This record gives sequence, structure tokens and C-alpha cells, in this order.
Amino acid sequence: MRKTCVAGASHLLEMGMPENVVVGSHIWVEDQELVWIDGQVIDINGEEAEIQTSNGETVVANLSKLHPKDMESPESGVDDMTKLAYLHEPGLLHNLATRFEINEIYTYTGNVLIAINPFQRLSHLYDAYVMKHYKGVPIGELSPHVFAIADVAYRAMINEGKSNSILVSGESGAGKTETTKMLMCYLAYLGGHAAAGRRTVEQQVLESNPVLEAFGNAKTVRNNNSSRFGKFVEIQFDKKGRISGAAIRTYLLERSRVCQISDPERNYHCFYLLCAAPPEEKERYKLGNPKSFHYLNQSNCYELVGVSDAHDYLATRRAMDIVGISQKEQDAIFRVVAAILHLGNIDFVKGEESDSAIVEDEESKFHLQMTADLLMCDPHALEDALCKRVMITPEEIIERTLDPHGATIRRDGLARTIYCHLFEWLVDKINDSIGQDPASKCLIGVLDIYGFESFKTNSFEQFCINFTNEKLQQHFNQHVFKMEQEEYTKEEIDWSYIEFVDNQDILDLIEKKPGGIISLLDEACMFPKATHETFSQKLYQTFKDHRRFIKPKLARSDFIIVHYAGEVQYQSDQFLDKNKDYVVVEHQNLLSSSSCSFVAGLFPSLSDEMAKSSKFSSIGARFKLQLQQLMETLNSTEPHYIRCVKPNNFLKPSIFENNNVMQQLRSGGVLEAVRIKCTGYPTCRTFFEFLTRFGILAPEALEGKGSYEEEVACKKILEKMGLTGYQIGKAKIFLKAGQMAELDARRAGI
Ligand code: ATP
Ligand code: MG
Repeated sequence: MRKTCVAGASHLLEMGMPENVVVGSHIWVEDQELVWIDGQVIDINGEEAEIQTSNGETVVANLSKLHPKDMESPESGVDDMTKLAYLHEPGLLHNLATRFEINEIYTYTGNVLIAINPFQRLSHLYDAYVMKHYKGVPIGELSPHVFAIADVAYRAMINEGKSNSILVSGESGAGKTETTKMLMCYLAYLGGHAAAGRRTVEQQVLESNPVLEAFGNAKTVRNNNSSRFGKFVEIQFDKKGRISGAAIRTYLLERSRVCQISDPERNYHCFYLLCAAPPEEKERYKLGNPKSFHYLNQSNCYELVGVSDAHDYLATRRAMDIVGISQKEQDAIFRVVAAILHLGNIDFVKGEESDSAIVEDEESKFHLQMTADLLMCDPHALEDALCKRVMITPEEIIERTLDPHGATIRRDGLARTIYCHLFEWLVDKINDSIGQDPASKCLIGVLDIYGFESFKTNSFEQFCINFTNEKLQQHFNQHVFKMEQEEYTKEEIDWSYIEFVDNQDILDLIEKKPGGIISLLDEACMFPKATHETFSQKLYQTFKDHRRFIKPKLARSDFIIVHYAGEVQYQSDQFLDKNKDYVVVEHQNLLSSSSCSFVAGLFPSLSDEMAKSSKFSSIGARFKLQLQQLMETLNSTEPHYIRCVKPNNFLKPSIFENNNVMQQLRSGGVLEAVRIKCTGYPTCRTFFEFLTRFGILAPEALEGKGSYEEEVACKKILEKMGLTGYQIGKAKIFLKAGQMAELDARRAGI
């Protein structure tokens, strides 16, 4: 049976067990700062318990808010959370914190790997020896590790001939990209075939990382090397299990960053790398100090601690060589990068005609000339494309001038368009050059995609990102549920009445066609008079009774979506602009006529008909389609999940902030997975383990000195304790949430 019910609010996983709490009980109680703190009950008054916490304070809390503390858990924690006696929030958190303290950054939760960013190089964890160590070893036999996940995916692919995927998620700075790189290194180790003197496919796959990072990563407040795009790398294998091809798909590069950055962030790395190029190259592109460029000097951050842009420039060039980008192409790429910097320095002043703009001062004229030179197009045509707008009506073609503000917006639009086309070109080129293996039947896909985001202000980008996460969450839940069922089926126990949370209603709200938010946004974008206010009104009207949609009381055009990971308030004011994705015809014409074949190739000219029909293309709708394709691919694979967690916002080692981690476990779906587990049988123990722990409750059941049947003995204990609802499988006892705690409490009372 499948039932929908609201998730998110259910942060208390395993219900508190008031009836088991007595004076002297060791428990966890909520704490403002630490989220949960352990303590001992010193008095009980009705529903209230007085607790002496481990930091020496006395607090009072309702019995129902307490969770039992397992006094038998090993001091160094357990490497799989499902081994915890009590599967509840404080238990999970405590286990992760305990392990993190001793640099055990990896922990399983069933088949999900939780990876906590150590913010320090733990090189002993990833060297060649460790790779060798993990090769071919079944999961669970060695300490949890990314290599173990890659290994299990690879073995499954070889043995079952089925494609696998590894989904890496987590918030910005949690370590997704680093984890992805390690996975790829390990897969290259397993499936590589060293060939002397030749670039191998795996080398190309690995070197695609620095290239994409140079153009798609930037320093943000959350991460000094933040990927501003999502990525799915599909590694293809031949019959012998060797890497034979690869394809990279990217998602939603952040466009706004090209023209707008805020302190202390940076623009895309490539701009700074080029400004740190050897002098003769800088001279060729008329580049100097990054401080002199408007697209870079909106922030005071130019350099990164511990990073040499000059060194990285050369490294990027070398990586480009390896992935098969020719010298000529590389020169053209950096020429375009330089052109964007010069373009950003073109300022406009009022022209003679009213509402017109011209490039007047000498400096702007110089940058205009430089931009035109680098893009190899006519400077007058460039100026016109920036300062004038052509309107095509059924009767005539009208040319209108733009005022300085309008021209500046045009300029930035052009810069963004060129950059996005450049990025797409790079991805296509890398794919072409690595090559696909049409004969490959099996692949391993690795997904490195942005996690759930909820900031003070949330715009269209967050909307798309959170939409992605809803999709992935649904996939994750279905998978976790399926795995649970498989375990129950293996043990031949009845699971038919277990319910699980479904977020289909949120997905419908966002993507239903017609009538979902994306559809309504597209309609608004096509309607000339629509504004963000009319769009919001339409949303309020359409979804006034939707339980996942809220109209905030005080805001006039904001809206709230109740996501699986919590509520997010979106500001709709830029939704329409950001959703529109078309290349201005004048820009298209200008660049497609460039005498540089590379630049012209970035903007292949469209026939008139196509130009008209492609005039409106929506980013939201295209992204939705991309996601649909991604989900189809993922659905045809056996998935494995890695949840990356950022232990603190200082990006520093050895600091574990409970609040922060808890929030990520919630939005990363870890709690959700555990919750699904809790609706079934969160604790399972082999007959032997069960008897070892609880035999004391019914010594008579164990009589006969080993001749007793384990299963019968377990049953006797459970019956004597009066428990119901548990299940007995072929080799294990499956307990419902709270029953383990109850048995422990009974045992403590003996
Ligand atoms: P974003 O969403 O912003 O791209 P991300 O999740 O991809 O973030 P990473 O860039 O992978 O985050 O990691 C951020 C930083 O954390 C890295 O630059 C590195 O310094 C550190 N880091 C991450 N994982 C590890 C690790 N396993 N060992 C050592 N340092 C790590
Ligand atoms: Mg990243």
C-alpha cells in the first residue's frame, strides 16, 4: 500500500517512549544549542521529567520529548547507523559526531554513504594502497568509503550486466565534487587500460574536471571552489569491464555570475586565470590587473588562499590539451574570455536623441574596439547591437534606440549569452573528443548536483535547484522503500501495510502540464503585459487550496513552497526575466558574422523562420525536460547514494556543528530514509544477537544448554514481554520503533 502524507515535520523519528522513562533513565533531551544533549532523569512529575544534563544543567522536559540513550553503543560509534539500537535523531547525530572526532568521516546508513567533509587532506584515505585494498571486497567488510561504493557499483555492473549510478548530493561546500573526483579516480583504476604514449579515455575523463572547473566554478561564500552547474558523467564500459567512452551532461550554469558578483565572492575562475597568464599572452589580450575590470571589481576578492591562478592557468591549458582541445581552439576560447572582460568595461552615456545611448569616453571606446577585435567583428556593428533594438512587426521593421541603462542591460545580456555558449561548446567538445562507445551496454553514471537551497532570498535558480531535489528525493524514497521491501521479502515477513511518504504532490505543483508553476510561468513569459505581480496573483489564485503552496501574509509577490525539506519563500520578481532564454537577434547576427570561425560557430546563424520560432524558449521548461531525461537514465540504473555533509560554515577542520549537520541530514533525505525504515521495522537483530542481549528477560527460554532453538527462544521472550506487532523472519527478529527501548528498559528493571 502506498499512502501520501506530509513529510518534513516528522523530525522526531522514533517516538519518545514516556512509559519507559523512570528516574535514573539515560535519555536525550532537546537543547537550543546542541540540538540534543544527553542526561539522566532525576525526577518525574506527571508528564514532566527533571533531567540532569551532561553539561551539568538541570532542565525540565515533557516525557514525550525524550529519547532513550543506548548505553551499550561502542565508544567509537558504529559504522552503519542501522546497527544502532535506537534509530532516532539524537542517536544518528551522536554517532556521526563521535566518528568525526576520530577522523572517521564515512558512515553508512543502510546502503547510503554519509560523507562528512573533513576540510583537511586525509591523504592516507585515498592513496593507491587503499584503492588496492578495497578492490573486489564486498561492501561492509571494510570501513565505509567512497571506494567501496564505486566498487560495489562496478561489480554489480560486471556481474549483472546492469548499469549503475552513484548519486552524490549535499549542500554547497559539502564535498560533492571532491567525492565525485575520487569515485572517478577509483573507477579509472578499476576500468583503466594504460596505453603507452596515447591519451586514454580515463585520462580524458579525469582531466575534463579541471577544464570544467575553470569555466564553471567560482569562489562563493559557501565554497572557494563552488560548482555553479550540475553534472552527470556517464562512464561507458566495454564487455571486459574497461572504460570505453564517456559522456558529460551539464545542468543550469549560473548565468548571472558573469556580470554580477557580490563581495567576497568571485566570478568564474577562468577570468582570473587569464589575468595571471604569462605576460605575452596578457599583452595579446590587452589584459592587466583584474581590478580594472567591472565584471571582476564589484567584489574585493581577487585571490584565493593557497591557490595560484598563474599555476592553474597553465594546468588548465594542459588539461585542455589532454581532453583534445587544440591550441588554436584554446587561443580562441581565451580570446572570448578576454572579450567578455572588455565588453563589461564599455559604459554608455546619453546620446543626442532622447532615450538614446552612445559610447563616448575614450576608455569605453578602447574597450569597444578591443571587444570587437577579440570577437573579430565590426566595432560599429557591435555598438549598434548594444545601443539599438530592432522590433519586427507584421508591417515593418522598426529600429529603436536604447537609453544608457537599457544599453547596459543589453551589454550584460550579451556577455552572459556568449559565456553560456562558450561553456556549452566546451562540454560538447569534451564529449566529442572523449568519444562515446556505441557498443557499450553498461555504464556507471555519477551525478554531482546542487543540494536543496533555502536562503534569505530565493529566486528562480533556487526554484530550479529545489525542483531537482524534489525529483531526486522521490527517486531516493522509492529506492529506499524498495530496498526495505526486498529485505523483508528475503526474510519472508509481511510488509504489505507499510506506508511511505510520497512527494508527488509537490512535483505536481511545480511541473504539472498544464497548470503547474512552470507552465504558468511560461504562459506569463509569453504574454507581453505580464509582470511578476500578475504571475504571482495567478499562482495565488490557482493554488489557494494546495497544501504545499502558501501565500505569505506580508509579501505581495512572494510565494512559499512546502518542500520535503522545509518551507522556502521565493521572491518572484525576477522569475520572468530569468526564465526567458533567447538570444537577441541583433547579437546573434553580429556574432554569427564574426570572421573568427570559432566565435561564429558559437552562434550558428538561424534561418528567419527558426529565429522567430526560437525567439521564446523557456529555461524552466528546458530544464524540466533535461531532468526528465536524467530521471529516465537513473531509473534504468541501479542507484547508490552518497550524502555529503558540511560539518561547519567556517570551512575548517575538526568543527562539528550539531545544528548544521542535523539540518542537512533532514534536507538530504537521510532522516526521511530512516523514517521510512521506522514505519516498518527499524531494528532487526539476528536470533543470536537478540538472545545475547535479552536472554536475561526469560532465562527459562534458554534452558537446555544450547539445545534450545534460537527462534523458539526469541519468541518466548517476546511473548513473555507482551510485545505485539514485531515480526520473526528466517534468521532475524524485526522490531517496531520503540520496542528495542522497551525491552532494554525491562532488562534494566531486573
Ligand atoms: P558546491 O555545491 O559549491 O560545488 P561541493 O559539494 O562540490 O560544493 P567541494 O567543492 O567538493 O564541495 O568541496 C569543498 C571543499 O571541501 C574542497 O575544495 C576541499 O577543500 C574540501 N573537501 C571536500 N571533500 C574533501 C575530502 N574528502 N577531503 C579533504 N577535503 C575535502
Ligand atoms: Mg561542487
